[in-house]
Amino acid sequence: MSTHIADDRDETIASLRALLKDKEHELSDLRRDLARSVGRLEFANPGSALRAASSINPRNLPCPTCHEDDRLTPEDVRLGYQCDDCADRAEGRGGYE
Ligand SMILES: [Zn+2]
Repeated sequence: MSTHIADDRDETIASLRALLKDKEHELSDLRRDLARSVGRLEFANPGSALRAASSINPRNLPCPTCHEDDRLTPEDVRLGYQCDDCADRAEGRGGYE
């Protein structure tokens, strides 16, 4: 019986560790969002059409054009955007100033 309890504890500890890891991810996302939102509340970058990422609108979706991960927020996808790099290519711009 004692080994069964130990197994339960291991399982609990493992799930708590997983939860903690998730929270650490969330926290680092929030810190990044906070840094990004200073001075540019609406748009992801100056001259960019993309929405600024936030905790309720995380940049966690791939670009439909170049298929790079974490390029777009759900709001960007809803609006039919592609990532800045692809938008620049589409507009014939070489990149950022
Ligand atoms: Zn792209």
